[in-house]
Amino acid sequence: MDLDFSAEDKVFREEVRGFLTQNYPAELRAKQQNEEALTKEDYFSWHRILAKKGWAAPAWPVEWGGTAWSPTQKYIWSEELAKAEALPVLPFGVTMVAPVIYTFGTEEQKARFLPGIRDGIEWWCQGYSEPGAGSDLASLKTKAERIQGDDGKEYYLVNGQKTWTTLAQHADWGFFLVRTDPTAKPQAGISFLLIDMKSPGISVRPIITLEGGHEVNDVFLDNVKVPVENRIFHENQGWTCAKSLLLHERSGIAGVARSKRGLERLRQMARSELADDAGTLLADPFFKRKVAELEIDLTALEYTELRTLAGESAGKGPGPESSILKIKGTEIQQRLTELTLEAAGHYGAPYLRNVPHNLGAVGPDDAHGVAGAYFNVRKTSIYGGSNEIQRNIIAKVVLGI
Ligand SMILES: Cc1cc2nc3c(=O)[nH]c(=O)nc-3n(C[C@H](O)[C@H](O)[C@H](O)COP(=O)(O)OP(=O)(O)OC[C@H]3O[C@@H](n4cnc5c(N)ncnc54)[C@H](O)[C@@H]3O)c2cc1C
Repeated sequence: MDLDFSAEDKVFREEVRGFLTQNYPAELRAKQQNEEALTKEDYFSWHRILAKKGWAAPAWPVEWGGTAWSPTQKYIWSEELAKAEALPVLPFGVTMVAPVIYTFGTEEQKARFLPGIRDGIEWWCQGYSEPGAGSDLASLKTKAERIQGDDGKEYYLVNGQKTWTTLAQHADWGFFLVRTDPTAKPQAGISFLLIDMKSPGISVRPIITLEGGHEVNDVFLDNVKVPVENRIFHENQGWTCAKSLLLHERSGIAGVARSKRGLERLRQMARSELADDAGTLLADPFFKRKVAELEIDLTALEYTELRTLAGESAGKGPGPESSILKIKGTEIQQRLTELTLEAAGHYGAPYLRNVPHNLGAVGPDDAHGVAGAYFNVRKTSIYGGSNEIQRNIIAKVVLGI
């Protein structure tokens, strides 16, 4: 495996860097720096700039707008995005439902949905988890029964509840796992439906997380009529789509580039303006050791990710190894926010995110928001399949235990 970047890749990196410097919206950057809540329009403003450039959906097939970048180029792209502290394109459309649509969907479904996802026109949410079905997803109960509509067309009548649905408050569409055959074995009776979030019978209720943010929701479906042509793949075979989507979900979750940027920021916080670190937190051997251990683990994770990329270059899709990236990546993100909070000390309070620091927070700017980030990042070892479940996958599929 050759880990050095080729001359072509270095030129590509410069192109990406130049593009980000010239095109990232200044108003968006200001909002991020002020820790202000981002609106749907904020996310889409950047997405649409990328779409215009043809860079909103790099991994897609070229005919639908993919860039045909090599895995290394995709890696460079995510690294530069993180260095520039640019928002990533939200995953629910581009990296989650779209691969299911272009892999399992009909030509009509591809033509209907892919352009709106690619161009940042329609916002998607993921309706998998339910109050009684998270890790054990196949026990989901949301029911979809076939009915004949007054217009003579066939519909599914959907009833049930989804939970933890990220950013559903903005969603135009959702992809849902529903039970279409209650008599079959759990995984055999599930179908994959695309549901218009404006359909009568859908209601979205906020769940406020530890740091006071509104990212997740409960979604209630009460006699929601969904046209049968909105089902992807065969009836009762939605589990095949669900599994393929989960692999894509996990592969992007390591967040190496963002953690590298976070580590740099931590060093800046823990160091004074002086040339040596004397008298600063970074001179403290215990703190220094923790930072060094984190950096070693992050470097090891980076090389694991590069190895996975090399595998992808050789034509291997994301496999169960992505579970390793998920566990290590999220543990590192959590340790990083712990150390950053330690570095901020008492300036870490008030911890509320989304309160602009021009509204009276005390202490250095870089300390503001770190407690909010600490609380927020507790989620990472739970979502995308909890880390305990990832360990089970590694034990079974990778180690063969
Ligand atoms: C911030 C956030 C955003 C989310 N966004 C979405 C979303 O957009 N759409 C969506 O569908 N879902 C979403 N989820 C849901 C997420 O996928 C589930 O929370 C996750 O799968 C865990 O399920 P659960 O919460 O029901 O916990 P449970 O499955 O009840 O697990 C509880 C605890 O038991 C452990 N456990 C369970 N089973 C086992 C086992 N077999 N072996 C060992 N340990 C086990 C778990 O690891 C966990 O620690 C989100 C979750 C969070 C926190």
